Amino acid sequence: MASSLPEARMAEDKATSRKPARVPAKKEVEYLPPAEFLARRLPEGCRLAEGDPGFRRQFYREMAACGIMGMAGPRPYGGSFSLRQMASVFEAVSVYSVGLAISLAAHTLCTYMIGRWGSETQKARWLPELCRAEKLGAFCLTEPKAGSDARSLALKAIPTPQGYLLEGTKTFVTNGLEASVYIVLARIGRPGGGKKDAIGAFIVEKPDPGVIVKPYRKRRVGFDGFPNAVVRLADYRATEENLLGTEDRGWNHTAKALEVAKVNMGAIGVGLAEGAYRAAVAHARKRVQFGRRIADFQAVQFMVADMHAKIRAARLLVQDAADLIDAGRAAGYESAMAKCFATDAAMQVVTDAVQVLGGHGLLAHPMEKNLWEAKLLQILEGTNQIQRMIVARSLLG
Ligand SMILES: Cc1cc2nc3c(=O)[nH]c(=O)nc-3n(C[C@H](O)[C@H](O)[C@H](O)COP(=O)(O)OP(=O)(O)OC[C@H]3O[C@@H](n4cnc5c(N)ncnc54)[C@H](O)[C@@H]3O)c2cc1C
Repeated sequence: MASSLPEARMAEDKATSRKPARVPAKKEVEYLPPAEFLARRLPEGCRLAEGDPGFRRQFYREMAACGIMGMAGPRPYGGSFSLRQMASVFEAVSVYSVGLAISLAAHTLCTYMIGRWGSETQKARWLPELCRAEKLGAFCLTEPKAGSDARSLALKAIPTPQGYLLEGTKTFVTNGLEASVYIVLARIGRPGGGKKDAIGAFIVEKPDPGVIVKPYRKRRVGFDGFPNAVVRLADYRATEENLLGTEDRGWNHTAKALEVAKVNMGAIGVGLAEGAYRAAVAHARKRVQFGRRIADFQAVQFMVADMHAKIRAARLLVQDAADLIDAGRAAGYESAMAKCFATDAAMQVVTDAVQVLGGHGLLAHPMEKNLWEAKLLQILEGTNQIQRMIVARSLLG
């Protein structure tokens, strides 16, 4: 594993010799403290979780018992990890499964937003089940006509005497099928509002009436085990208790939450690159051509050296952005830069790793899937073009 949970957390576990809270589970499983869990259980757990949704639900609960499913939730509900700690968890998971890491990232974004901006009533209502993985969270911003230009979203929240009526469609939703708690961004449509409408963040529950979830049916090269969904709200009745924060703060809250999410996405890029790098190094040491290990050829050595440097630089940028946010500082451009750099690095490292593996990289090794995953990371949480725009705007004004 490239990085384990930071020492502070491990020391805390040791000092308190805390046994992770047991959660009801169908099968008896062995619960481990977080650092040990990541080291011992992750490789096999991730492999199984990719292909088997039933096992995945069980594995979420194992992760919950170590505090991982509630790592963004404040105490007493969740693990209250620092962002640096969260990033190291995302890196560790994505060495073995980018799909699981992205599912965990969507869930974490949902718990983070409720934990940070929810009222005490909202936290008490939704966080315990989310942090124990009895429910899975999702985040719904993208719409069929609002991708990079997310602020042009059309899903309407129409004020009524009892609260709001929500109407519209979100797409590409990660965890969409399995989740039952969704953060949904909506335009609060008061008469005469138009483009100046406030954007509110709502907590929507399934199976409440008016929530229609369908799989997003498009053939995909990788990621078969993690279907995305289209979430349609038809006359969904939300009360004041469903509104996160105030009516006019939804967009600001989302922008702040996305800073955290971008750090996590960068960490997933680092983990993906680390896994591909390890496979390339192992192959280069074993594969013999022209009577020599291919690791002895300078062309391969230079690729390995560059891969290593890119991973290390990406990890440092991710940690730097995480530390800023942990210190309570603004990190708008630093989180964008970390996400962009780390996921571009993942694409370059995976491409070179496939090159080191030759035909085996495309036909015999799961690395073929890594290519698809690296491309996805360059698009998720805002494409890398959009991240560059954020960085440039900050540098140039
Ligand atoms: C597997 C997967 C899971 C996802 N999960 C979620 C989820 O859980 N929740 C959610 O809300 N969304 C999710 N998304 C959506 C994702 O965040 C969007 O795909 C992403 O923001 C880009 O939007 P788009 O696909 O509509 O591309 P578009 O916005 O249509 O962009 C197309 C191209 O145009 C470029 N472009 C657009 N505007 C500009 C500009 N101003 N300057 C320069 N270039 C520009 C883009 O960079 C891109 O290259 C997911 C997507 C995928 C593929």
